[in-house]
Amino acid sequence: MENVVDFTKTPVANLYGSNCFSNAVMRERLPKNIYKEILAVQNGEKELTLEVAEVVAAVMRDWAIAKGASHYTHWFQPLTGLTAEKHDSFIAPTGDGKVIMEFSGKELVKGEPDASSFPSGGLRATFEARGYTAWDVTSPAFLKQDPTGTTLCIPTAFISYYGQALDKKVPLLKSIDALSKQAIRVLRALGNERSKRVFTTVGPEQEYFLVDKTFYDQRPDLILTGRTVFGVLPAKGQEMEDHYFGAIKERVAGFMRELNTELWKVGIPAKTQHNEVAPNQFEIAPVFANSTAAVDANQLVMETIRSVARRHGLEGLLHEKPFAGVNGSGKHNNWSMATDDGINLFEPGENPASNARFLLFAVAVVEAVDRYAPLIRSSVATSANDHRLGANEAPPAIVSVFFGGPLTEILDNIAEGKSGGAASPGERITLGVTSLPSLPKDVSDRNRTSPFAFTGNKFEFRMVGSSQSISTPNTYLNVAVAQVLSEFADKLEKASNKNETIQNIIKESYSKHRKVVFNGNNYADEWVREAERRGLPNIRNAVDALAILLRSETVSLFENHKVLTKEELESRYHIYLEKYSKQINIEAGVTIDLAQRYIFPAVTAYAGSLAGDAAALASIGATNVPQAKRAKRIAELSAELYDETSKLETVLFEAQGIEDAFAQARAYQEKVRPAMDAVRIRGDALEKLVAKDAWPLPGYEELLFKL
Ligand code: ADP
Ligand code: MG
Repeated sequence: MENVVDFTKTPVANLYGSNCFSNAVMRERLPKNIYKEILAVQNGEKELTLEVAEVVAAVMRDWAIAKGASHYTHWFQPLTGLTAEKHDSFIAPTGDGKVIMEFSGKELVKGEPDASSFPSGGLRATFEARGYTAWDVTSPAFLKQDPTGTTLCIPTAFISYYGQALDKKVPLLKSIDALSKQAIRVLRALGNERSKRVFTTVGPEQEYFLVDKTFYDQRPDLILTGRTVFGVLPAKGQEMEDHYFGAIKERVAGFMRELNTELWKVGIPAKTQHNEVAPNQFEIAPVFANSTAAVDANQLVMETIRSVARRHGLEGLLHEKPFAGVNGSGKHNNWSMATDDGINLFEPGENPASNARFLLFAVAVVEAVDRYAPLIRSSVATSANDHRLGANEAPPAIVSVFFGGPLTEILDNIAEGKSGGAASPGERITLGVTSLPSLPKDVSDRNRTSPFAFTGNKFEFRMVGSSQSISTPNTYLNVAVAQVLSEFADKLEKASNKNETIQNIIKESYSKHRKVVFNGNNYADEWVREAERRGLPNIRNAVDALAILLRSETVSLFENHKVLTKEELESRYHIYLEKYSKQINIEAGVTIDLAQRYIFPAVTAYAGSLAGDAAALASIGATNVPQAKRAKRIAELSAELYDETSKLETVLFEAQGIEDAFAQARAYQEKVRPAMDAVRIRGDALEKLVAKDAWPLPGYEELLFKL
């Protein structure tokens, strides 16, 4: 396979999207009426008919086969958070020893991968284990190429025999519908008759680490868990801040070039890339897209980082906290709402009407984030993310909104019944229709510590973990905002005086919910205390955060908007809890294994050789030598390591035996995790005392500084 593209021969514009069955390809290849039908389906105006699907399938097949595809797969997102594929070849035997290449509308629209081993949280008994996949028309099909061949991938939703969502796509699609419906009601009430649909747009910034594959291969903890369960920083960590935005090393630049090329081919607009704060940490961000396409694209970005890295003798680490002592990785989820006719609803306006619209929608987000903060917190609840949130490198577990000085002042004034905003006195206009103030030209100042920051024309949700699917955070966010908008719409639709009602809604909503707005330093300890005074929830761990899914207000929210049923929520709760427990279970197992089979033998052998040296030196009269002291210290620490490992084994065994999923997860969080930390402290202390070449694992200096 060709890895290096010469852009003088193949301009990026020609390469871009060459493996993507985009709307542009469909416009060019489908009969006009069929393409129009597809657009209507994408806009939620029509259902897909089999007749249309037949035509699309034939065109898609010819397109894919001409590009070398032999197989197709429905590409879906089960609740593991990963993507899944089941490949079928296009061949159909003709009975005379030959084949033709077939792909019908039915095969495009619906698959039956069975896939009964994916977690369903009790939604499927084995006798009804069939799962179905259904084409998601809102996200383009694409070709996946590897050195052995090419496969047509069709993004799909994954549902049970009874129609329950078994994946992360179905609720996302439903949440977009729900949000669109309520947003359109509000827009109509504001006099907008043109927009037909509202989309959410998402641009995720993906952080990751790269390590040399030779070192990675010698670290069972990295291989099995994605993070190091032992390891100490060398004299230098990230304190010099010399990596952040630094010149990109040639080897990494080569990797990034190929990563971009691969992403461009499948129509993912990879745009920015840079070195991040921690050594060997990087970021890639595409241009934003509608949220279903963006969610799929992000899954592919993560997968492509890993596969391209391997071609360069590297390993891509997507884990939220691969290394202790330096920053972990997150994913900034930039989110906005836009109408089908191109209005960004979070774009502060140039005239009174658009200002009113902006303030109304912005305030709706503030209210949604305040009312549903626990739910939003739960959308990022994983065992890996617990290492980051609140650890002075990532936003705290307290959800708050950053608005920046000028906007906050304007909203505060509205809440307090003062007219206008003092932000830009020269520009203030008294509006004829409403007395809402004009907005300053640039409202986007920056705050890097806020979990939910308004950044000019979008909100940036920064609590998302680097390895997680962004589907869930976006789904929850959409539903929460849909609920608040529905209440705004109820009031607006009944209003006799629209302008007054708009103002009242903004005033009432913001007064009640401005406690969630915080423009200061979210990493500071004072904020934790201040947030408590304000009554904001601080849900410190994933286990408590996941329990939010069962609350009655969560259930009624999701059921009101027909996004998830109680049963589906319960199944998700169980799957996520189980995943939490399983992850820590594996980490604890690896910790024990490394302690017993790698570290203990190495350090005792090393201490033994030091003691031997000391004895030899004593025989020639040299007593009290450092070899003896060092051997003694290592022997003491290895005894502690041994004891702590035994304790870990005991609590791990106890946790494994707990039946109830919640109690089990709690045991992993409260008992197993601290016991692992206690083992690690001894292991790390030993690493500092043992000769480099006697230590059985590559250290942080290799993993973090050699590329
Ligand atoms: P920063 O690092 O300053 O936060 P980046 O340029 O790295 O900014 O990332 C910003 C991300 O936000 C990009 O993916 C960009 O496409 C995305 N974005 C910009 N406008 C919107 C929008 N209206 N909706 C969603 N995402 C957006
Ligand atoms: Mg950002």
